Amino acid sequence: MRLKNVKGADKKIEECSLVIKNPEVYRGKYKEIFDNNNPIHLEIGMGKGNFIINMAKTFKDINFIGVEMYDSVMVRAVEKLEDNISNLRFIKIDAVNIEEIFNKEIDVLYLNFSDPWPKSRHEDRRLTSLRFLKRYDNIFRKEKTIIQKTDNRHFFEYSLKSLTDYNYKILEISLDLHKDDVFNVETEYEKKFSDKGYPIYMAKVIK
Ligand code: SAM
Repeated sequence: MRLKNVKGADKKIEECSLVIKNPEVYRGKYKEIFDNNNPIHLEIGMGKGNFIINMAKTFKDINFIGVEMYDSVMVRAVEKLEDNISNLRFIKIDAVNIEEIFNKEIDVLYLNFSDPWPKSRHEDRRLTSLRFLKRYDNIFRKEKTIIQKTDNRHFFEYSLKSLTDYNYKILEISLDLHKDDVFNVETEYEKKFSDKGYPIYMAKVIK
């Protein structure tokens, strides 16, 4: 994705009370942040935040955390926040360090329209590569549930193979999510691609 430098993004992020500034301090203790024992759902690569913000507004009994690595993208999510949403937080990190942030406390992981990194020399950067799947193991509380959406057929096939090779079982799959009669909160990328008529692929896997 092409990134524009957004003037003042770092200051806006610093001033936002929903952004956790020292996330490693809460490792293993995220329920303290939310002050309840509700499940915690995590989105890695939340982009401009449409999905995670609307999920948090819809499901008040679930806590949501959105992770994004770039200021210039996360600031767009911060700007969308109207009121304080008590079951939502953002963390600005590269997910390669996710094990340093969470310890056995995540219930569901969303990977929405992750960068496909098509060149094989970049395989390690794909969020569904073995390198990342190994890092996710310790962040989950009990069952490991991952829900992926993408417009990219090759990346979807790659991810299904990577996940099932790593012993995840497929619970649900869709080759055209918007034609299925299911509840769905759109992401920014999803809207862009479905407006162009592309099918949206979805898989829910569990280990
Ligand atoms: N999920 C959003 C959507 O569907 O509209 C954004 C999709 S965008 C293609 C992928 C996002 O993932 C980008 O904002 C990118 O900065 C972020 N990202 C990619 N790799 C990441 C990583 N290792 N850690 C955190 N964020 C990452």
